[in-house]
Amino acid sequence: MDTGEQAWMQALCHAVRSMGRQRGVVAGGAGCTSARTVSCDINRTRAVPCIPVPVHGFFTKEKKMAHHNQPKRDSLRQLASIGAAVGAAVLAPASLAAPGPKSTVSAARALEMLKEGNARFIADRPESVTQGKQRRLEIARSQSPIAVLVSCSDSRVPPELLFGRGLGELFIIRNAGNTVDTVALGSIEYAVTQLNVPLVVVMGHERCGAVDAAVSVVEKQTVFPGSMGRMVEPIIPSVLQARTALGPKGPKHTHDELLDASVKRNVQRVVSRLRESEALLLEPLRAGKLMIVGARYDLDDGRVEFFEG
Ligand SMILES: [Zn+2]
Repeated sequence: MDTGEQAWMQALCHAVRSMGRQRGVVAGGAGCTSARTVSCDINRTRAVPCIPVPVHGFFTKEKKMAHHNQPKRDSLRQLASIGAAVGAAVLAPASLAAPGPKSTVSAARALEMLKEGNARFIADRPESVTQGKQRRLEIARSQSPIAVLVSCSDSRVPPELLFGRGLGELFIIRNAGNTVDTVALGSIEYAVTQLNVPLVVVMGHERCGAVDAAVSVVEKQTVFPGSMGRMVEPIIPSVLQARTALGPKGPKHTHDELLDASVKRNVQRVVSRLRESEALLLEPLRAGKLMIVGARYDLDDGRVEFFEG
């Protein structure tokens, strides 16, 4: 790699790093005339060989000459090419999922299955769920879950138990307060577009500690240490909306009423966002292949109430 190429690779690494990815894969390399590849390990901020994701013609001899002659213009052009290549790789859904059968259950049937499982849980009559060696081997190379669950990390709210489901049936995203950040959204998009999962359930629960923390921020201006404050930030608008809807504190509402209203509002806000503004989910929603519903789990009686419609 000559000096010009080294400078170029540094610029390229910087560009990939600025895209906010943990690891970028770019094309080109020492002595490359067509499709040799290097990877840009941004954690170590240097180019290292070699992840084989070729982008043909990227570092042809002609382009290298052009680069030497017109470094600024070509750098911009090549960065744009890399951006497009990385973008195309991100948008290439066919390569993401393992081959194998995808979910074929309808959204309505999936919802029915969750309700049936929860009814058994409430009645304290759990049936044997799909697990064991045979099931493990059956799904070892592919998965076809019936639903995505976005739920709280709370130890009292384990989706498989609440819905009586087993191995390979639920695609679960859990965090304190069942919010959806970029990682959670990407996980949902993966499940819907790659695995054909027909149902997304966003489930809050009674006496949620994360939502209670957000209530405390609003009501008492509590400041939480570490990352906990930022964790509850996305919930705060829900608390404010719930408080406005309930009216002034005191005779109008108790703390528990505000907390529960905030739990529901938090679920509804996430559901609305997924239904209305997330591009990859809009088409399956329009086509009737996807249903997104909210829910609330009651810690006392074990019932999951679904907010349909
Ligand atoms: Zn919780």
